[in-house]
Amino acid sequence: MDPIINAVLKPKSIAVIGASTNPDKIGYKVVENLKNCGYQGAVYPINLEAHEIMGYKCYPSIKDVPYVVDAAVITVPAKIVPKVVQESGEKGVKGLSIISSGFSEVGDHALEDEVVRIAHEYGMRIIGPNIIGVLSNSDKMNASFTNFLPLEGKAALVSQSGALLIAMDAATYTRRVGFDKMISIGNQADLDFADLIAYLNEDENTSCITLYIEGIKDGPRFMEEARKCTKPIIALKAGTSAHGAAAAASHTGSLAGSAKVYEAAFEQAGVAQAEDLNDMFDTTLALSLQPTMKGDNLLIVTNGGGVGVLATDAAEKFGLPLKFAPEDVQAELRKHMPSFGSAKNPVDITGGAGLEGYYEGVKYSYAHPWVDGMVVLYCETSVTDPQEIAEAIYNAKNESGASGKPIAVSFIGGDRCEAAMKWLIEHDIPTYDAPDLAVKAMASLRKQDDMLKTAHNGLYKPTDVDSDLARKIIAGARAKGRDALTEVEAKNVFRAYGLPVTPTVLAHSEDEAVQLAEKIGFPVVMKIVSPDILHKSDAGAVKVNIKNEQGVRDAWKVIMENSLAYKADAEIDGVAVQEMAPWATEVIVGSVNDATFGPTVMFGLGGIFVEVMKDVTFKVAPIDEATALDMQSEIKSSKILEGARGESPRDQKALANVLAHYSFMVYDLKDEIAESDANPVIVYENGQGVAVVDARIILTKK
Ligand code: ADP
Ligand code: MG
Repeated sequence: MDPIINAVLKPKSIAVIGASTNPDKIGYKVVENLKNCGYQGAVYPINLEAHEIMGYKCYPSIKDVPYVVDAAVITVPAKIVPKVVQESGEKGVKGLSIISSGFSEVGDHALEDEVVRIAHEYGMRIIGPNIIGVLSNSDKMNASFTNFLPLEGKAALVSQSGALLIAMDAATYTRRVGFDKMISIGNQADLDFADLIAYLNEDENTSCITLYIEGIKDGPRFMEEARKCTKPIIALKAGTSAHGAAAAASHTGSLAGSAKVYEAAFEQAGVAQAEDLNDMFDTTLALSLQPTMKGDNLLIVTNGGGVGVLATDAAEKFGLPLKFAPEDVQAELRKHMPSFGSAKNPVDITGGAGLEGYYEGVKYSYAHPWVDGMVVLYCETSVTDPQEIAEAIYNAKNESGASGKPIAVSFIGGDRCEAAMKWLIEHDIPTYDAPDLAVKAMASLRKQDDMLKTAHNGLYKPTDVDSDLARKIIAGARAKGRDALTEVEAKNVFRAYGLPVTPTVLAHSEDEAVQLAEKIGFPVVMKIVSPDILHKSDAGAVKVNIKNEQGVRDAWKVIMENSLAYKADAEIDGVAVQEMAPWATEVIVGSVNDATFGPTVMFGLGGIFVEVMKDVTFKVAPIDEATALDMQSEIKSSKILEGARGESPRDQKALANVLAHYSFMVYDLKDEIAESDANPVIVYENGQGVAVVDARIILTKK
């Protein structure tokens, strides 16, 4: 655990620089909140004139405090911040929360940089500036200007929005979702999401981490820390940025979009993405209170057929479809229900079910090894008391002899149900007022289990690559003043990264083209090689299925003519002569560099699937073969690869190998490649491999 971050989040002593005697000022509020919420450490208000504030002795400067100060909370106007940060450093303060605003959020990056520079000179770390402050129930510390600590619980919130943090702080009481910590991180001038994930992963009072994100500063580092984190992380991402659109100069670029890349990055790093604020609360409730679900067997117990059906629908919708319970489970459950009940799954113990029905039903099912997780539903009836049912469920689980499986509950009814649900949450059982929400919570616990497993795999790194060779080819093109590689060069780079490109050679004359074609063997394909013509078929400069010498000679003339007609002053290297790959399913593999997460991989089927349907999927590079297989099943037209309408299945394994190697290439060469694609890649029947017939690489600006 980083001792400096610990000093800001768990200080034994706090100086409030800019403490005020005026109750309207933030500098007063912070002192008042520390006092009123019961902070046990020392508090030193810093104020030039006052002698005491709220009973704490004041000092004119932090340097006058005669004791050790762990953290300084700074509330002075922005332009004085560098001065007090300097003094804090001289005093030996370990860390700073800078509440003051007026920095990069209003365009003053220089002032913000200056403050960070001074802090780092003294080894101090900063939360903020432009924050609400830091709140922690376990330390009864409210070092902020929002009035109260959140409802006690085990989640930790890190929020980039201050207003939202204040609102959520209040909402924890009505939503019944408890938090131990709420941390406002504002401009993230120094400590950012990644730092706080690393810290909270080791914090004993945090069981899950909830993030409200507007923008991540360093995508790869965020992903690295999220992957290392063994606790669930839930992120609500607001706003899609414009830089995805800026990259839309190329085909691949126009399909990218930073929202999609964020989505992929979260998934790859094992972060659950919340759809909206409600979902963020609901998911936090489940992930903060319950263990992950280790298998797919969800059992639903209900006293109402209707909510049972709703829950069953939800289970399918959220990817956790119900299965019938095994015979022995059914036989045992039947003993505790009327003959007209159903023990299948959902287990309908009927509206007549009372305490005994719930207690025995839950106790037996929860302990049964077949069951991986449970949802218990209750519809208010005139013959049962919701509070008693709640207690029966809780006791049954505790007395079942089993543990480590998640459970979620939904009560549907009036005030009495509300009270019983509150009680259940206080006893660590996530409870929702709709059956589908309880099922959705369970699905997120299931997904979390999968994500935590795969996210921990190290970054994919193939061994059969020759990056020196690739860099030499790129350096050669740069030496000629080019910002894009020709197809021949790009294919050589691809080949150096283990990609199966069709053999392609450059002919400088018609006669040479004939010789090379004869050497490769007919039929061949011929294409213009010119740094000025990147979309070759648009220029009429691709000729396929050339069968003999005369064909080569004809093609040469047509390609030259068309190319010069397309661009009269085009610089022409010659004509590429290449093996003609037999036709099969065409797919496109591409990459752009995302401003936040770096190189990405895009995959989709060729032709109208990409152009019209925009049926593509993205990942952050690099990806391993398992993730590459996931990409193939993620697209809507995945059936075509799996073998639709009597077609034999495509070689998805070979394609996965290509995607993984390609992803490593764009990752490894991220300083050199701005954008690239393999369009098309031809995918053959299972076992027959793939062929990359076109390659494009656009270089980074240097
Ligand atoms: P462009 O620069 O227009 O993308 P391509 O190299 O992709 O040019 O060629 C256009 C089309 O010609 C491809 O989509 C593919 O269908 C076909 N093609 C290109 N090269 C080959 C090849 N070596 N074997 C078979 N078909 C090819
Ligand atoms: Mg192409």
